[in-house]
Amino acid sequence: MYSGIAVSKGIGIGVAKVLKSEQDPAGYSDTKIERQLKLTAPGAVLVMTELTPYLAGVLKNMSVSAVVCETGGATSHSALLVKAMGIPAVYGAEGVTEGIADGDTVIVDGINGFVYEKPAPDQIREFSSRKKDYQKDQERLVRFRSMKTEMACGTECKIFCNVSDHLGVLKMLDNGGEGVGLYRTEHLFLQSDHIPTEEEQLRTYSTIVKAMDDRPIVIRTLDIGGDKAVPGNYFSFEKEENPFLGYRGVRFSLGNRKIFSAQLRALLRASAYGNVSIMIPMVSCIEEMREVKSLIYEICGELRDEGHEYDEDIKIGTMIETPSAAAISDMLIHECDFFSVGSNDLVQYTMAADRGNRNVAYLHSVNQPSVLRLIRSVIKNANDAGKPVSVCGEAASDPMIIPVLAGFGLRYFSVDPLLVPETRRCLSEWRLDEAQKLAEDVVGLSTAADVREYIKVAMRKKSQQ
Ligand code: PEP
Ligand code: MG
Repeated sequence: MYSGIAVSKGIGIGVAKVLKSEQDPAGYSDTKIERQLKLTAPGAVLVMTELTPYLAGVLKNMSVSAVVCETGGATSHSALLVKAMGIPAVYGAEGVTEGIADGDTVIVDGINGFVYEKPAPDQIREFSSRKKDYQKDQERLVRFRSMKTEMACGTECKIFCNVSDHLGVLKMLDNGGEGVGLYRTEHLFLQSDHIPTEEEQLRTYSTIVKAMDDRPIVIRTLDIGGDKAVPGNYFSFEKEENPFLGYRGVRFSLGNRKIFSAQLRALLRASAYGNVSIMIPMVSCIEEMREVKSLIYEICGELRDEGHEYDEDIKIGTMIETPSAAAISDMLIHECDFFSVGSNDLVQYTMAADRGNRNVAYLHSVNQPSVLRLIRSVIKNANDAGKPVSVCGEAASDPMIIPVLAGFGLRYFSVDPLLVPETRRCLSEWRLDEAQKLAEDVVGLSTAADVREYIKVAMRKKSQQ
């Protein structure tokens, strides 16, 4: 048995396909693994050294039962992609590529983070029955797809979705999402062998915006860098010692004006087809937001002169992903139309713990008092300024944190499309006064473990009422 980090819920049972990455001087070789992946039989359990975001994209066209990786954390970008595909997954399971061989039967428990190799027949029976229970609960959740989002006292909330392509929008509509709170545009760039042109981007964005049928969609500008490197090096990234602290998000965009302007032009032109907002990733100071806005205004002028249509009232907001942005959120909010808290990165940067590194995964928790305090102040500062604030990191769909966020004053949650019903059910179980009391109590606690335990007890009491 191997223990790891539960990344994507569900239980997978299948035959192992082991894919070991060898490190070459330029990093792991995705192309070699990609070739092997494409030859993998349907229904296999992938046992891998590492699944990069690029390789996770390859899984879209395959049908695998589960994924197990030696490396990675629960909010690494590849984990988010695997979760969005509904594939059960466990990351950070040390030794699996050595201990498991091609053809071994494997059970992957993505709910608790365990992997069982060569299970006995009674173990297979037990997990098949757990898998059925999980599926039954998923069926019970179906009715929440079409319900209004409200807390037990009637307080209204909204559940938006995090998507990265047109399929994500269709899943959002299927699962009862009320809009897109985060459209990650980097996948368009990651899956291309050249920098997508303005016209190519316009085609993609406008198709998605039209599919939204006037529902709100927040499109995030390119958040490349960090663990989202581009294969084929068409961006020719300089090798960085600390990629997560380096040239990513808005820093890359402001330093590559041609690429940024082409994306902004395409986004603005797509805004003529629906209810689009633009969101900027990785902002850490006010100057960045001012520079972005002045570029957007300049481009608006160009588009007007060229006779292109765009939404003149388009809203421009920022992700709150750095402790710096959170610390100045009372001032930053005046430069923005809205905030969205990227809790995955906010935890990473607040705790100085790489979100993809299994050795520091124990620090990577939104329950950390420092993180909770930052999130509380960001929500308060946006609410005080009368501007919308959402959370679009994984915390927004964590049933243990949802009531705390609601208690802090959050009303907009942006989650993976598959998690809309569960998030809505969770909100429906709490009254606002209960959530406020819980939120007030947990910010007074001094450790993440105390916070987790306190919420667990509160939830247990609630389920016994
Ligand atoms: C986040 O950091 O929480 C977020 C939503 O952005 P991403 O996961 O794409 O970095
Ligand atoms: Mg982020």
